[in-house]
Amino acid sequence: MIEYLETDFENREDIIAYVRKLSPWAEGNESCIQGGAAHMNALLDLLEPEKYGRTRNFGNGRVSRLSPYISRGIVSLNSVRNRALNQSEKPERAYKFIQELAWRDFWRRVARTQPELLWKDVETYKTGFDASEYLSDLPVDIIQGRTGICCIDYFINELTTFGLLHNHARMYLASYIVHFRRVRWQAGAFWFMQHLVDGDLASSNLSWQWVASTYSNRPYIFNLENVNKYFGDLIDTSGEANRDLNMDYSSLHSMLFPRLGVTDVE
Ligand SMILES: Cc1cc2nc3c(=O)[nH]c(=O)nc-3n(C[C@H](O)[C@H](O)[C@H](O)COP(=O)(O)OP(=O)(O)OC[C@H]3O[C@@H](n4cnc5c(N)ncnc54)[C@H](O)[C@@H]3O)c2cc1C
Repeated sequence: MIEYLETDFENREDIIAYVRKLSPWAEGNESCIQGGAAHMNALLDLLEPEKYGRTRNFGNGRVSRLSPYISRGIVSLNSVRNRALNQSEKPERAYKFIQELAWRDFWRRVARTQPELLWKDVETYKTGFDASEYLSDLPVDIIQGRTGICCIDYFINELTTFGLLHNHARMYLASYIVHFRRVRWQAGAFWFMQHLVDGDLASSNLSWQWVASTYSNRPYIFNLENVNKYFGDLIDTSGEANRDLNMDYSSLHSMLFPRLGVTDVE
C-alpha cells in the first residue's frame, strides 16, 4: 500500500517535528528559509530586475533568493519571467534576470535529454591534468570549513549553516575545490547536494562541470582581487587572511596549470 506524506500542518513547528520523525538520521538544525507560496510571493513582490542586472555579482547585490522555490516547483520559470517583465519599466531592462532563468531552463533540458551527463565528465579537463590525477574525496579541512583561507571558510560556513550560497560564491568555492585543491568536481557536487536547500542536480552538476572545464572551453579561476571587488564589504579579504588567493592571474594560471602555456584566463 502506498503511504502518502502528511501535508496538513497547523504551523512550522509541526512540520519540523514531522520531518525530524521521518529522518532521525539527519544532523543539524532546520533551515531558516521558509517554504510555501506565501514566502515565495513575498520574494516575487520584491523583484527588482533592473537593479538585479547591475548588482547581481556582488555578495550584497539584489538577487531574488527564489531558487529554493523554483527548484521545488513552487513557482514556474514562466511565472517568474512574467513577473520580472511586469516589474520592469522597459522589458529590455529585465534582460539579465531572464537570461539567468534561461540558464536554469537550459541545464534542465540537458539533464532531461542526457541524464547520464549529470555525474559523468562531458569532456576531458582543459587544465593539463587527466581526471585520474584529481582526488576522488573532499579533504576534511574543506568539509569542516577550516582551510585557513578566510573567504573560502566563510563561504563553506554559509553553505553548511544556511544551505544557500550566492552564485558567485558557488563559483569561487567550486573553483577552489577543483583547481586549487585538485579534487574531482563530482566530490564537490555531491557535498553541495548534501547541504543546499535549493539542491538541483541539473543546475549544480552542470555548473560544476562548467567551472571544472569538463563542459566548457577553459577552467574558471578567480583571485583575491576579484573576491575583494564583489565581497569586500562582507568578508575579510586582506592578503594575510587569504594568502593562497593573493596573486595576479598570470601567476595563478602558472601555479594551477603548470603544464599549460600562459593565457588570459580570467
Ligand atoms: C557550482 C554551482 C552550483 C549550483 N547549484 C545550484 C543548485 O543546486 N540549485 C540551484 O537552484 N542553482 C544552483 N546554481 C545556480 C545559481 O547559483 C543559483 O540558482 C542562484 O545562486 C540562486 O540564487 P537566487 O535565486 O537569488 O538567484 P538569482 O540570481 O536571483 O537568479 C534568479 C533565478 O535564475 C536562476 N539562475 C540564476 N543563476 C543561475 C545559474 N548560474 N545557473 C542556473 N540557473 C541560475 C535560478 O533559478 C535563480 O533562482 C549553482 C551554480 C553554481 C556555479
